[in-house]
Amino acid sequence: MSEITIPYTAVMKFVRVPLALQQAVMRTLRQKLAQASDYLETTFPEPCVTYRQRGTIAGSAHLQGWEIRLNPVLLIENQQSFIDEVIPHELAHLLTYHQFGKVAPHGKEWRFVMETVLKVPANRTHQFSVDSVRSKIFIYYCRCQQHELTIRQHNKVLRGKSCYLCQQCKERLKLLEQDKSSTPQSENFA
Ligand SMILES: [Zn+2]
Ligand SMILES: [Zn+2]
Repeated sequence: MSEITIPYTAVMKFVRVPLALQQAVMRTLRQKLAQASDYLETTFPEPCVTYRQRGTIAGSAHLQGWEIRLNPVLLIENQQSFIDEVIPHELAHLLTYHQFGKVAPHGKEWRFVMETVLKVPANRTHQFSVDSVRSKIFIYYCRCQQHELTIRQHNKVLRGKSCYLCQQCKERLKLLEQDKSSTPQSENFA
């Protein structure tokens, strides 16, 4: 357990995706792309994959740029189950655009690409927990004052990875109240 003094100023702007995980992403992408090439008898350029998706959205497909944008936090948290679900979903958007032009995002053309070409269930929403990407504040206290911790800092405390100390009194922060109202939700992939 590492001790961190609050206020915690080093806000992470960029989440670094481990190389092995990036390689696993590309492996699945290339495998699904080859599957599509075989079935549709067309060769497709390899989409550009970036890890810039924010918020509770798992990923998005940028048709003109031939780009798949993935949520790095949800990828790291869910690993291969994220890859198996999100890569075909977003790739199917690109392939649908390539084959059919501008059609409804999750319409019959997209479902055909998902089910018949890529052979995966045509799920429109993901079931990953979005607790750590939903912005929420948790109130902690020490001897002298109250502190606001982000959900990520709070999760680190829960997992026993960090504990936070008050800069002034040096006391370890304790949780004041926990929001128990959060319910699992399905979120759109986009
Ligand atoms: Zn204090
Ligand atoms: Zn979609």
